[in-house]
Amino acid sequence: MSKTNRKQDALDYHSQGRPGKIQVIPTKPTQSQRDLTLAYSPGVAEPCLQIADNKEDVYKYTAKGNLVAVISNGTAVLGLGNIGPEAGKPVMEGKGLLFKIFADIDVFDLELDTTNVDDFVKIVKALEPTFGGVNLEDIKAPECFEIERRLKEEMNIPVMHDDQHGTAIISAAALINACELQKKKLDKVKIVVNGAGAAAISCSRLYVSMGARKENIVMCDRTGVIRTDRSNLDPIKAEFATSRDLNSLEEAMQGADVFIGLSSANCVSAEMLASMAKNPIVFAMANPDPEIAYELAIATRKDIIMATGRSDYPNQVNNVLGFPYIFRGALDVRATAINEEMKIAAVKAIAALAKESVPEAVNMAYNAKNLKFGKDYIIPKPVDLRLMTNVSTAVARAAIESGVARKVIADWDAYTEELNR
Ligand code: NAP
Ligand code: MG
Repeated sequence: MSKTNRKQDALDYHSQGRPGKIQVIPTKPTQSQRDLTLAYSPGVAEPCLQIADNKEDVYKYTAKGNLVAVISNGTAVLGLGNIGPEAGKPVMEGKGLLFKIFADIDVFDLELDTTNVDDFVKIVKALEPTFGGVNLEDIKAPECFEIERRLKEEMNIPVMHDDQHGTAIISAAALINACELQKKKLDKVKIVVNGAGAAAISCSRLYVSMGARKENIVMCDRTGVIRTDRSNLDPIKAEFATSRDLNSLEEAMQGADVFIGLSSANCVSAEMLASMAKNPIVFAMANPDPEIAYELAIATRKDIIMATGRSDYPNQVNNVLGFPYIFRGALDVRATAINEEMKIAAVKAIAALAKESVPEAVNMAYNAKNLKFGKDYIIPKPVDLRLMTNVSTAVARAAIESGVARKVIADWDAYTEELNR
């Protein structure tokens, strides 16, 4: 397909018929006059009174428990940058669509016209009565860190900034499996992280909480290696500053076991790859074009495991493997948060699924014959229906065990069956 065709197709897809990608559909009968008196006045007053008596009943009589807010101010949309809230709306509607088709979660997308952190926090906090959870999306760094931190502190429903944690969770699952295949240990590997933005910082934090050692991480930004002696060191970047005497990405790459790219296209050369340790792991995740082209990377190193953010190469690190099921599990136990334990449970469930035999439907969807755990299949494919059961159950269990669930699942078989429906 030519680029112009694709562009026109995308515009037509969004504008044809009813504009946009989502709508609201009633879930109760609405045919008769009686139905309408139940749905609205006077019947509706009854659930109102029950909820007024006991706030928790809002989960019993309204859609709150299955409703997630996808909230953005349009300041870091895809790789397009600060294009504003209206221009970000197609992405937020798209996220709503993915929540619905993968995990049957309903979404209201909310595009806020503010770049002020206090205002943003105040608005989202006031929305708590409406929603079962909040997915923050495409908000630029560093504001995204403070916004998420404050909302997590101040709200009693799960809040997750998916650009940070979704990427961290999926890439951590990929990293665990890649380490196993390359016979490396997470607590021993030397990791170079290129990029120091929302995704890079949260990925590094999660790798550390899963066992990677902070002193084995070297992080770079546009200026080069982030060193402890850098003047005017940004407080967030300081968390991963190194005291080693390294200056450039080129120097940092020498002998490294793992390269994590969350920066921009084509900033890694074949020479840099050649200087890495034996059996290197390279996740070049800049979108739409990776830090080093897939073909060049695999031609340069026969012993490489390579992942990108792209669907047209093996090992796509795609957030859709995570967020629908993480929220599904969190909502189903009415969790008050998405905590570290739940994220790590999601990582382990995703990593473990890649080792199970692949259903024929998944092979067929990718025109593949025999996908199996190995260098070209380190994480599951988005169409794998088992993600729903495996990841949601793992997250729900972790919520209960870590004490943030307000509802306990007693019959796990029945729950799994419900998820499969
Ligand atoms: P961000 O918050 O804007 O951060 C970008 C970071 O990359 C900044 O720290 C920037 O350095 C650094 N950077 C840019 N070009 C660089 C270069 N040539 N060398 C070294 N550092 C460079 O963006 P983000 O949300 O973290 O996303 C970063 C990239 O990861 C994007 O390409 C995005 O598409 C991709 N991403 C992929 C996935 C996925 O595959 N699933 C998920 C999330 C993000 P300064 O701080 O010096 O400006
Ligand atoms: Mg995003």
